[in-house]
Amino acid sequence: MASVDWLNDPAKGVARTVRQPQVSMAQIVEAVLTTDIDPEKGKPLIAFIEASTGVGKSFAYSIPAILSGKRVVISTAKKALQRQLIEKDLPFLVQKLGANVSFQLLKGKNNYACGLRVDELDDHDHLSSTDVETFREWFRTSTAGDLSERTHPRHLEILTHVQECVRKSCDKASVCGYVQARNQAMEAKILVVNHALLATDLAMGGGKVLGPYDALIIDEGHQAGKYFRDAFTLRMHHKHPEALKRIFGRTEFDRSELLEPMYDRLFKALPPRSEVLKLDDNLRRIFLDLYDLLNQIRKLLKARNILVDEGSEPEEDASDSIVARALSKLRAGAQLVDKTCRLIEIVVGSHAQRDAEGNVEAGDPTEYVCCVEQRGQELPEVFATPIECGPLVAPALLGIKRVVVTSATLATANGMEYAAREFGLSTRQIAVQQVLPSPFNYPNLATAYIPDKMPDPSAAARTDDYYDKLVTEMHSLLVASQGGALVLCTSYKDMKQFYDVLREKYAPLPYNIGYQQGPPEPLLDWFKRTPRAVLFAVKTFWEGVDVPGLGLRLVIVPKLPFPPFGDPVLQARKKLVGDRMLEAGYDPKRIGAETWMAFDFEEAMMDLKQGVGRLIRSETDMGVVAILDQRVYGKTKGYSPKIRKLLPMPITDQKAGVVNFLSVLGKRHLAGG
Ligand code: SF4
Repeated sequence: MASVDWLNDPAKGVARTVRQPQVSMAQIVEAVLTTDIDPEKGKPLIAFIEASTGVGKSFAYSIPAILSGKRVVISTAKKALQRQLIEKDLPFLVQKLGANVSFQLLKGKNNYACGLRVDELDDHDHLSSTDVETFREWFRTSTAGDLSERTHPRHLEILTHVQECVRKSCDKASVCGYVQARNQAMEAKILVVNHALLATDLAMGGGKVLGPYDALIIDEGHQAGKYFRDAFTLRMHHKHPEALKRIFGRTEFDRSELLEPMYDRLFKALPPRSEVLKLDDNLRRIFLDLYDLLNQIRKLLKARNILVDEGSEPEEDASDSIVARALSKLRAGAQLVDKTCRLIEIVVGSHAQRDAEGNVEAGDPTEYVCCVEQRGQELPEVFATPIECGPLVAPALLGIKRVVVTSATLATANGMEYAAREFGLSTRQIAVQQVLPSPFNYPNLATAYIPDKMPDPSAAARTDDYYDKLVTEMHSLLVASQGGALVLCTSYKDMKQFYDVLREKYAPLPYNIGYQQGPPEPLLDWFKRTPRAVLFAVKTFWEGVDVPGLGLRLVIVPKLPFPPFGDPVLQARKKLVGDRMLEAGYDPKRIGAETWMAFDFEEAMMDLKQGVGRLIRSETDMGVVAILDQRVYGKTKGYSPKIRKLLPMPITDQKAGVVNFLSVLGKRHLAGG
């Protein structure tokens, strides 16, 4: 039976109602998974499908995946979706479809506790014995040593997660949760993973980490680029020498007496703020001295067969557990040394190319941007991140041949171009590009309120007067809706300013307000539990927030979410594309505007669509999205019509009608409707 037969007939007990966009999506996925492709010469069948909330994407791809008989990897960004697939959707569908198909979730190594490292906790004098005992008790009773099963002190998680597993000789392997999860994952027909683990697998050609697979489905695809970037970023922290001393102490690899003062010199010479790393002679010399020393250790580790490719399983291992434990530790240290050497090669190599100085190994053709990042009072961290991650994953995607990328937000005003670029693909390489209609009747459910005469939101113009005017507008809407509102801000500074001005100007407020601080989950709980709640929030609340019903009836966007000016990675990406345009003969005067539209604008539109998408989560939801940014109204910017076109609901600038609508919704919700 074909996938659509299960979705077209509610009597079969799979779909409650027939949703045409869901049926269409299942048809596309089924075609990708089952169309004959010549393994040698056949063109890849890649589909990008935008399907909004309510389409039922997970069923639309899981049913064809189960029925295909192929080994399919499903990758998602968020743990919540992985849990939904593994705990609800896949068991339900496998049972309903009567299919004998196994499925398994596999997380990255650092999500599992390693028994050898749990034993070693006694070696750390600074740990509280109660914490260690509680942790061990959990580990003994846990099913898979999965660290997300409950909350642990963060430092205990770092000290115990799996690093380099030497399972072939580890006497704990037969009861090890990580090994069991990995074995089951290798045998599972459908494997669910996160984007970071997928990135590692794709970078190695596809199949080395996850086992061979026939097809790949990437859900929450709009976030893949960000996770790919994190997975490929190399970092150097001032605590590295401490870690190396702990690992290599009393071995032939120990150089801590030399390394510690070198790291000390380096971190003292770094600029005390976040910026692109610029090398002067002194800094370059320090990096090169450090490189020479680390590279000596790396060569020795390679010669002793301790440094192995990341993600690969060591061929030969030690014969007893004590040696295995020591080997596992050394392998983790070897990875740290290797990554730091690669980072310095990038940092110094890219600069040395210009100055022809320094004895640096070449190799990686990827272009990186190197930065210093300082968080709070901590010493800065050095990191190198690829300017483009797409080229690192595209060859594997094209090699897999059957790939579906889906999300509620993939298309912008330029179609799928931006999304395709994140995967290193051109739109010509994508066989199917489909934006499915929303199943919600937006004209009956929602309105976008875009007022005229909003103040200029540019940084220079955001004076007290700006905040005062916006807060006045917000307050009138919030009074009408009686709360039930999310105010999505683009920075902590703006969020706090709106919050403070509102409290100061209108206290006592007829609604309850809170702002984002600490982890998002408790705050979202507060929002759902509190009548008349208004939550001021930043980036994390622009997506993933799901409040069905009238509890959320108003979403306010004070300012369009353009990326922060000066983001070094974004600047480097724009420069790279700008340089290519220049080489291709583009008018230099147009390049700034073109790259701004290709990156800043596209990114902002993706985020805006996500933010607007918080409002209508089910067919009975209703509400208003208020965008208080004059650039959307359309008198000043050429791009304004493109933004308005992306909004799924009718647009108005007539406040009286909006206030009336919100009053009705507020009353209905508070009356329990
Ligand atoms: S080394 Fe591997 S097999 Fe042994 S306990 Fe750690 S994760 Fe498990």
